[in-house]
Amino acid sequence: MTSAPFPIRWDEVTAVFGGTFDPPHLGHREAVMGLFKHPGVREVLILPSGKPAQKSAQTSAKDRLEMVKRNFAGIVNPSGRPVQIDEREIRRPTTAFTIDALREIRGERGIGNDRVAPLAFVIGVDQLEKFESWQGFPDVLGLAHWIVLERAPKGQPRAKKALQHLESLSVIRSAGREGHYQTLPRSGPTTALICVSTGARNVSSTEIRRTFALHGNEMNENASDIRSNLAADVESYLKAHHLYGT
Ligand code: ATP
Repeated sequence: MTSAPFPIRWDEVTAVFGGTFDPPHLGHREAVMGLFKHPGVREVLILPSGKPAQKSAQTSAKDRLEMVKRNFAGIVNPSGRPVQIDEREIRRPTTAFTIDALREIRGERGIGNDRVAPLAFVIGVDQLEKFESWQGFPDVLGLAHWIVLERAPKGQPRAKKALQHLESLSVIRSAGREGHYQTLPRSGPTTALICVSTGARNVSSTEIRRTFALHGNEMNENASDIRSNLAADVESYLKAHHLYGT
């Protein structure tokens, strides 16, 4: 195991934002925009999953990809280039595991397994809580840095508890600053794991699906409230294709 390259130049890092995006919402969009401020990444790559490992998507990969394109449209990286959508998982016929995607992205960028990559994978607290069940855990930890979104509600206390658990497993250790950790994979280099608050709104795809299932196209106060968490182009797409009971 080699030592981590602390401090990290976050302005050289590509942040990979994976998700099922069923449907993508404004919380996802705000989380991405927040990453440019804190930790200040160079670019974001959106990675929608085709066949997610730990969830079952209610809509097709094709529909989710189209909604993802609409949801993240117009966001630019600090370089001025638009945020890219990586379609590899949509095309993959088998279950999507982050470890496979990270290995592929590293390979394409010519980064050997013994080197720290200027790559970070973004996860919400909900994923941090399930980290142990991830394919390739704990070795997946060495393939990228990790940005944990302190997602509302109760993002901070939930993150703290999950991090204490990972510390007790000796797969991370504190880097001496609140919310900053060093990963301890069994093989490969150590990387950084940091907790960030992006200021993204408290909304989830589950909540949106549930509201559509209950109210369909009928407008009442709750339904219109939930719809205000969707980009207009996403809402028009899902209605036109009668997704989620609309
Ligand atoms: P579901 O409710 O179906 O579990 P979700 O809203 O969590 O879906 P995902 O597609 O699983 O959406 O999210 C992709 C990533 O974005 C995950 O790491 C998730 O934790 C994070 N995320 C989702 N919503 C928010 C939000 N409102 N604020 C911050 N992060 C979020």
